[in-house]
Amino acid sequence: MKYKREVYLADYAGFCFGVIRIAKIIEETLAGGGEVYALGEPIHNPIKVGEWKKKGLKVVSRAEDVRSGSTVIVRAHGVPLSEWKILESKDVKILDGTCPLVRKVYDKADFLLRNGYFVIIAGDPSHPEVKAEASFLPEGKFKIFTGKNSDIPDDNFRRNYKKIGVVAQTTLSDQLLKNVVIPLIGVEELLVFNTICYETHRRQESAKNLASRVDLMIIIGGKNSSNTTKLYQICREIVDSYHIESADELNPEWFLGKKKVGITAGASTPDEVIKDVINWIETLS
Ligand code: SF4
Repeated sequence: MKYKREVYLADYAGFCFGVIRIAKIIEETLAGGGEVYALGEPIHNPIKVGEWKKKGLKVVSRAEDVRSGSTVIVRAHGVPLSEWKILESKDVKILDGTCPLVRKVYDKADFLLRNGYFVIIAGDPSHPEVKAEASFLPEGKFKIFTGKNSDIPDDNFRRNYKKIGVVAQTTLSDQLLKNVVIPLIGVEELLVFNTICYETHRRQESAKNLASRVDLMIIIGGKNSSNTTKLYQICREIVDSYHIESADELNPEWFLGKKKVGITAGASTPDEVIKDVINWIETLS
């Protein structure tokens, strides 16, 4: 049977304000000439980062590799304190691309620490953002819980503290934050700062909403992007879903018998990539 396929884009998809902010810093700095470094992948999208590399951006993972006399841009999700210290000891111009919503996590964790709370970071300890956040806290004064499976605070842990404060990785899902917070109920003083970024939250809610109304979801974004991966995890629990980085990965077989197709994209996915995917699907017979 032949029919016209319907394609819907989630209400919130693609570049968030933190990515727009750092993209502007990078493009203006590259246009100004000189040697320009990014410390860490500036955003989690290989296509966009590849374009900047072609224009001369040098992406390094260690502050030591930034040459004196150059300009260095710190990635949107921040870098550890040790890397900041190395940069500050060098003769380099530092442009801080850390997203203000990531900075807010640092500020809230610092507030908790100064006010005598044991700090819990709800998030993935292997994610660069969480590694950077944790690096600003003294050993023994904080703990990270992912909220997945059994990685949540247990009764023994809870009984050790009278004051516990919680902050969250900006790209965490509401459910994982709940998984970490609920077992803490019963602590004498519990203070939770919901630092999940509203851009992430909107994208997750609109993806969930769209996924419940279509036959198939396509989620576009870097495979190394935490927020894109979360969108994929949310959608695949509701409907058949595929996570791709670009239109090149689309497979006509996925669309057999699927009339309504939903599209969403992570916070670091450029508009051009989203448009390419929509065009590809709309021209599929
Ligand atoms: S996803 Fe949120 S925290 Fe991350 S860069 Fe975008 S606005 Fe900032």
